[in-house]
Amino acid sequence: MTEIKTIAVLKGDYIGPEIMAAGLAVLAAVTKNTTFQYRLVALPFGGDGIDQAGDPLPAATLAQAQASDAILLSAIGGPKWDQAPKRPEQGLLALRAALGLYANIRPTRISDALVARSPLKPELARQTDFVIVRELTSGAYFGEPRVLAETYAIDTMAYQVSEISRIMHKGFRLAQRRRQHVTIVDKSNVLATSKLWRRVAREVAQDYPAVTVDYTYVDAMAMGIIARPATFDVIITPNLFGDILSDEAAQITGSIGQIPSMSIGESGPALYEPIHGSAPDIAGQGIANPMSMIHTVAMMLSESFGEKQLAQRVTAAVAQAIAAQVVTPDMGGQATTEAVTQYIVAAVTQPA
Ligand code: ATP
Ligand code: MG
Repeated sequence: MTEIKTIAVLKGDYIGPEIMAAGLAVLAAVTKNTTFQYRLVALPFGGDGIDQAGDPLPAATLAQAQASDAILLSAIGGPKWDQAPKRPEQGLLALRAALGLYANIRPTRISDALVARSPLKPELARQTDFVIVRELTSGAYFGEPRVLAETYAIDTMAYQVSEISRIMHKGFRLAQRRRQHVTIVDKSNVLATSKLWRRVAREVAQDYPAVTVDYTYVDAMAMGIIARPATFDVIITPNLFGDILSDEAAQITGSIGQIPSMSIGESGPALYEPIHGSAPDIAGQGIANPMSMIHTVAMMLSESFGEKQLAQRVTAAVAQAIAAQVVTPDMGGQATTEAVTQYIVAAVTQPA
């Protein structure tokens, strides 16, 4: 008897639920008549958590998410909760911390059909295929003390060797499955944490003799992503730099409305989410691009459940929709969320 996987569904806010519905429709379609069996558990979270349970991360949501095999999250937050005592985003920080999700993984690839929309020259765009591995639970966003006074403010950037070492191993292991190249990002000409970052990277690199390594300052890296994107395979970066570089990387793909990400820890369920926000400006209009969530579903099938072929069918179906120009306005088309979803559902249902 096959095991039934449990997927926690945190449906999100504003366009969140619109694209979640699309992702789940594609999940249902691609797994139909296969051995992959799952059940969905919908849990209040983010703004929806505040509305339903008075908390962006209700205790019951955390407990059930922890007990699941994977967590599917859609974009959260928005102006509705600007005055709330706790912001929806605090729920996400708390969830990542509670699950120990210290590595955020974002693939950056430009599908042939999107090359024309990329701000890069076509020949550069076509060769772009890298993954950013961003440290997620430490560094400048979490260091203490943190002070905001009238005439001064303090943030603290701090890293433990153990925190650096584990993210390095994640990145190097990922490189072994790819093109065997790692780029270490830091600012070690100035920052102490970056000097430590580089030292630990050199030590960890010894364990992976087949992987070649480059060391790059973050400012040079910001240029590199635009000027020579094809030279990167796996990029390992501290939290703050990774936040900035991954938004830059998203821009060169032609639309943020189609990019997934995953966050993983040492054990326990991984969390899958589109990289973009809840886009309040277009919510309720039926024009949100569902491809981000559909790619997110593919990533979950592949990485948490080892269903590479199902994932491949989903990605191929998305590519087919793009090639047929069945795309939403953010990608230059006129299709609705519903039309794009139906096209992709039909494409994954077709016998291979
Ligand atoms: P956050 O602070 O939550 O990251 P943001 O202000 O950075 O939000 P996003 O919501 O990430 O903004 O995206 C910026 C804009 O891109 C949105 O306002 C929206 O117009 C567009 N956008 C984002 N995601 C999508 C999508 N899936 N489909 C269509 N347009 C999108
Ligand atoms: Mg943003």
